[in-house]
Amino acid sequence: MSLDMAAATPADEAQTILLGLGVPAARFAQGPIRARCPIDGSVLGHVVRHDAAEVCRTIEAAGAAYLDWRSTPPPRRGELVRLFGEALRTAKTELGRLVTLETGKIVSEGLGEVQEMIDVCDFAVGLSRQLHGLTIASERPDHRMSELWRPLGVVGIISAFNFPVAVWAWNAALALVCGNAVVWKPSEKTPLTALAVQALFEVAIARFRYEGSAAPEHLSAVVFGGAETGEAIVDHPKVRLVSATGSTAMGRAVAPRLAKRFARPLLELGGNNAAIVCPSADLELATRAVAFSAMGTAGQRCTSLRRLFVHEDIYAELLPRLRRAYENAPIGDPRDLTTLIGPLIDGRAQEAMSAALDAARAAGARVHGGERVDVPGAEDAFYVRPAFVEVDDQTGPMLEETFAPILYVMRYQQLENAIRLNNAVAQGLSSSIFTNDLREAELFLSERGSDCGIANVNIGPSGAEIGGAFGGEKDTGGGRDSGSDCWKTYMRRVTSTVNFGSELPLAQGVRFDI
Ligand code: NAD
Repeated sequence: MSLDMAAATPADEAQTILLGLGVPAARFAQGPIRARCPIDGSVLGHVVRHDAAEVCRTIEAAGAAYLDWRSTPPPRRGELVRLFGEALRTAKTELGRLVTLETGKIVSEGLGEVQEMIDVCDFAVGLSRQLHGLTIASERPDHRMSELWRPLGVVGIISAFNFPVAVWAWNAALALVCGNAVVWKPSEKTPLTALAVQALFEVAIARFRYEGSAAPEHLSAVVFGGAETGEAIVDHPKVRLVSATGSTAMGRAVAPRLAKRFARPLLELGGNNAAIVCPSADLELATRAVAFSAMGTAGQRCTSLRRLFVHEDIYAELLPRLRRAYENAPIGDPRDLTTLIGPLIDGRAQEAMSAALDAARAAGARVHGGERVDVPGAEDAFYVRPAFVEVDDQTGPMLEETFAPILYVMRYQQLENAIRLNNAVAQGLSSSIFTNDLREAELFLSERGSDCGIANVNIGPSGAEIGGAFGGEKDTGGGRDSGSDCWKTYMRRVTSTVNFGSELPLAQGVRFDI
């Protein structure tokens, strides 16, 4: 499909992409949920809202699909995910473009998000032959003890607007090879990309055969709506795991409901990520890393850099470099390949940014940038100049996640103190140190170092690869997604002891001679 659509409206372009991907027009033509384009504030399409009864029916259907799917051998389940990865490769340009239209991400980030989906599919396909347990030494003769991994059932996925498709793929690719069915509730701000992903998944489903049979119907479904639709997933007894990505407030609402029915949570919540720049750091590299992490995606990544601690000896040298990077960052239509900073998602995000900057000013901070930027033809959109805020103390709005491009910058003298400041917020997602001193780097990574789920050296806190486990501690929710051994979250562990002798010795020497 041609994307040479400079003259087309965002709605025309989005709808052409959706039709090209096989989404029937009726699915995005009407309904109470409005997909808004943050690039110019126009409406891209409408989708239905699923009420609790419809969510319940969807989950029941997924539950029936699971009963079939669980007996499909894992490498064959991997074949379905391989086919889905193939469909994504074919549609990468179009889906990436739709991500840009619906979230306002710049072109390379829209494409990068789809690449992340493809990468996690590749990872899951390999994993489908490696869902391995342990053999464990038994204390009893002629006994063999082992650990087996079995699917859970229906996995619910609730996702945030800022990674509208990759987060689903992290979860779904693993959940499916592990033998589960999935029900997805995307953010109400980004329903169209979810429709597109579902259509691509259906392409893979249509091509899949195992011993002449198709994959079960309703193996993966999408439901649309806001918090109430999410709650219907969270409360349904058939949903054994809910992977919920979003704000800490959402996690606080979801976690007790899951605990009440002993369902498994996988929570990926807010971050308030910091970086430390040490005297030995490569300042050119650090400037580029800080610029991408703090301003990229208009500060709307959970891993965006929000706090920067700079050693006092290099503060005067680093600051002008950072100021230049901030002043020169091209802001505008994310479809323009020279743009690096696209719009905020909506007006509420811009209000939250202004309120945080006002609070910082009131507390004595020196604020540079942060103002609304006019982009011709986009009066209903919310473009801002990323803000750079010099502070003397870590206090007020710096202690919270504001989902916008605000970077608080503060001097430090002792590395131990900078690490203490790094850890002195409620969230614990990502963190970085810039140094060429081995001792400083290792201290930062040690048990006395960063308390976050991600700790990087000479890389900013954002932009993770899929091979590692992704997630964070404290108010970030404690969940881990994607690589490493995260697949275990999507399975239940069975410990099995087999007696192949004719005696019945009891463990711990217990006698029960009847
Ligand atoms: P949000 O919390 O407003 O919404 C996230 C999702 O949760 C949406 O689908 C929403 O409809 C749903 N939801 C909200 N309340 C709910 C409830 N009570 N029950 C069930 N579902 C509910 O977040 P957002 O504005 O879309 O995304 C931004 C936030 O997400 C930021 O805080 C960001 O840090 C976080 N985030 C975290 C990660 C991570 O991996 N840690 C990744 C992306 C985004």
